[in-house]
Amino acid sequence: MGGLGVVLLGTGVTAFGIAPLAPDASDIPVHQVIEALNVPTQTQANIDALSATQQPDAALVLYRTETTRRDDTAQSLLQRLGVPDSQAQTFLRNDPLARQLLQAGRTGRPVSVEASASNELLRLTARWLSSDERGFTRLVVERSEDGKLHSRLEQGALTASTKLASGVIRSSLFAATDEAGIPDPIAIQLAEMFSSDIDFRRDLRQGDRFSVVFESLEADGEALRTGRVLSAEFVNDGKEYQSVWFEEPGHKGGYYGFDGQSSRRYYLSSPLEFSRVSSGYGMRFHPISGTRKPHMGVDYAAPTGTPVRTIGDGVVEFAGVQRGYGNVIYVRHRNNQMTVYAHLSRIGVRKGQRVDQGDFIGAVGSTGASTGPHLHLEFRDNGVHVDPLSIARKSESVPVPPALRQRFDAVAQLQRLQLDAAASIRQASAE
Ligand SMILES: [Zn+2]
Repeated sequence: MGGLGVVLLGTGVTAFGIAPLAPDASDIPVHQVIEALNVPTQTQANIDALSATQQPDAALVLYRTETTRRDDTAQSLLQRLGVPDSQAQTFLRNDPLARQLLQAGRTGRPVSVEASASNELLRLTARWLSSDERGFTRLVVERSEDGKLHSRLEQGALTASTKLASGVIRSSLFAATDEAGIPDPIAIQLAEMFSSDIDFRRDLRQGDRFSVVFESLEADGEALRTGRVLSAEFVNDGKEYQSVWFEEPGHKGGYYGFDGQSSRRYYLSSPLEFSRVSSGYGMRFHPISGTRKPHMGVDYAAPTGTPVRTIGDGVVEFAGVQRGYGNVIYVRHRNNQMTVYAHLSRIGVRKGQRVDQGDFIGAVGSTGASTGPHLHLEFRDNGVHVDPLSIARKSESVPVPPALRQRFDAVAQLQRLQLDAAASIRQASAE
């Protein structure tokens, strides 16, 4: 059981004869091929053993990779890399280019080093995302013949690769995605794309399972960030749900069922984005009125400061303070429908402002008649209170345009194959 769902398989997109679909991958020009560095991971014990022999043989080169951590200094990073080279430490601290590697908060950057048998740094290579996240910066520090260290920065293009993963729910979605090696942004996309059908805070069952195909954007083969979920399948309480991303130049991309129908939702199912933090909070009855007097909304318990988003397109009707509600925002939608977001700690919009579905408008708080941080959400249809959860499940069905149908079918077929491959990996490892 230990290996269950742990397989994360990279497959070359080109192997299936189809170009990457997501815009952030397809419009990234792939123009740079650099020498692939073979970097076998050395254990500290290996390095110690090798260096202990004090071989004068200069040809012996040690390789090691690490990622930067919060609070890393030149010294702590080089120590983890097994290169206690004080000259290199000083260089990383003082060289204007090399210093960029460890600027505050720069965590998770892959760093590889080559060192001599006497633990002298020969070469250090590090990569990180450029500020627009479309490319990456490569820092190279090298020792020249005269023994001095030199630095240079290079710009590279990210390449997209497709990943397959699969898992089974035993406790929570994040426990399952962690086990399957799926990054958090992909887990959140997964929860969001099925959120009109499955409430991930309440509906998950032990034994629910999922497969997902997603993009990983890489620098020289190192994953620097995740891209889009290309397709996914979720089996919840025995019911199957599937979704596939489809986008063509000149058409807005979106998720469709394998039947080519997209369900565009007028309203999001939740004003809070699904996250590691919010998933631990259940929905509950109104925390103020201990009695069951009619409560005209849904309460979402969440820490103060959790971003709140408008569940539909609209215009801000009111943003300010009201008795009972505390800081409150009213958003007017089409057909004289209105949503109300109460007890906020912060208001981020003004009266009359246009907002689009999913825009962040404020933050969870405990203002007004509230005993603890939570968001109170109401939905009013022509002034009449309606259950927001039932509204969220209403959507309009939009088919793939007939002219694109053939193209869609090809994409869907490929994604179907990949999802099946992901599921079969899970089954194989379970057996
Ligand atoms: Zn409430």
